Amino acid sequence: MNKLALHWLILIGMALGILWGMFASSVGLVEFTTDWIRPFGTIFINLLKLIAVPLVLVSLVTGVSSLSDISKLSRIGSKTVGVYLSTTVIAVVLGLLLVNVFQPGNAFSAEKREEFKKQFAATTTQRSSDAATVKQQGPLQPLIDIVPSNIFGALTDNGRMLQIIFFALLFGIALILIAPEKAAPVISFFDGVNLAILKVVDIIMKMAPYGVFALLAGLVVEFAGDDPASAIELLLVLGYYCIVVLIGLAFMVFVTYPILATTIGKIKYGDFFKGLFPAQMLAFSTSSSAATLPVTMERCEKNLGISREITSFVLPLGATINMDGTSLYQAVAAVFIAQAYGIDLTLGDQIGIVLTATLASIGTAAVPGAGVVMLVIVLQQAGIPIEGIALILAPDRILDMCRTVVNITGDATVSMMVARTEGELQTPVPTNEV
Ligand code: ASP
Repeated sequence: MNKLALHWLILIGMALGILWGMFASSVGLVEFTTDWIRPFGTIFINLLKLIAVPLVLVSLVTGVSSLSDISKLSRIGSKTVGVYLSTTVIAVVLGLLLVNVFQPGNAFSAEKREEFKKQFAATTTQRSSDAATVKQQGPLQPLIDIVPSNIFGALTDNGRMLQIIFFALLFGIALILIAPEKAAPVISFFDGVNLAILKVVDIIMKMAPYGVFALLAGLVVEFAGDDPASAIELLLVLGYYCIVVLIGLAFMVFVTYPILATTIGKIKYGDFFKGLFPAQMLAFSTSSSAATLPVTMERCEKNLGISREITSFVLPLGATINMDGTSLYQAVAAVFIAQAYGIDLTLGDQIGIVLTATLASIGTAAVPGAGVVMLVIVLQQAGIPIEGIALILAPDRILDMCRTVVNITGDATVSMMVARTEGELQTPVPTNEV
């Protein structure tokens, strides 16, 4: 089963799930669907959650420690990381602005939101007592919470993802600082584990068509009950949510990056797209920045005029840590779910989302569907129910394809900017040839 086939299978799974849900609601198979189909959706979500912790730990350690190869390029390194972080923060803030302006989650009818709220309240009485405890703590408690006192505690407690990220960064930096011959076996161990984990994600994604079918069927019957017409509301609201994400992604690709590339990279608007188009198409069809990397590098060197010295470092690092499309999507998705569940997010909560979505996108692997796995972190940190992922999983593949285009376009833009400041940018030779 190749990636393209999988992508079609997921779309088919989606469509069949919706159709089954509507059919089941109208012929009274609601209970059957809830008891016998929906659990497979839950299993699929559990699999995603299962791999999230090891994925963050290992992909961050390998990402950070890979900087050691280029210690002589530490200046370029810090510049690159700085610009990558800035573009990611721009993307998250844009996502938050859009989701707060359009409020797609509030488009659910009052009754539906009331239902979501009740479900949430029923399953999370614990949460309110947690919230009360949080209120009693001092203002620096969130900072204290980032630093684990026991790494194994952080690894086994699902809510402690920021602590794991903190440890992974610290460990990765330590690997750079110790003697290279001592670090090498540890790094290659993590590289191997990283590959295995990516394979596990691959295997889980093979289940995606069935998982998506089960989730959608379960979602539609739950939403529609015995009234299939009300399922239409769900589809409309999901469509609205997708449009908000797509507006944000399109803004990044057609406005933000070209502004940076034309002003700092000194390239013409059309030439920028001509140069990158094949890589963007590949990103769209594979949903993987990693799979697209060889083509992104080739296009940047041959068509955008960036030197190999820059592309060989900036682009692979970008494919690992710079995911602007993913972070924008995570911000919109998290707030959308909160809106649907009637959870009010304060400005402080939203600033927290900027931080976690930035970190989560850094930890997101450059493979299909990784962004939605890492969304778990953003939700957990913001106190938004993880079950809400079921709401947005259905259209995720399509959004994944689009956000991957943003991810690689962002990487290419930043490498152009770094190359310009280093005097490593030649006159671009735009062509449409693949
Ligand atoms: N598929 C994306 C990428 O490879 C990551 C994500 O799921 O957002 O860039």
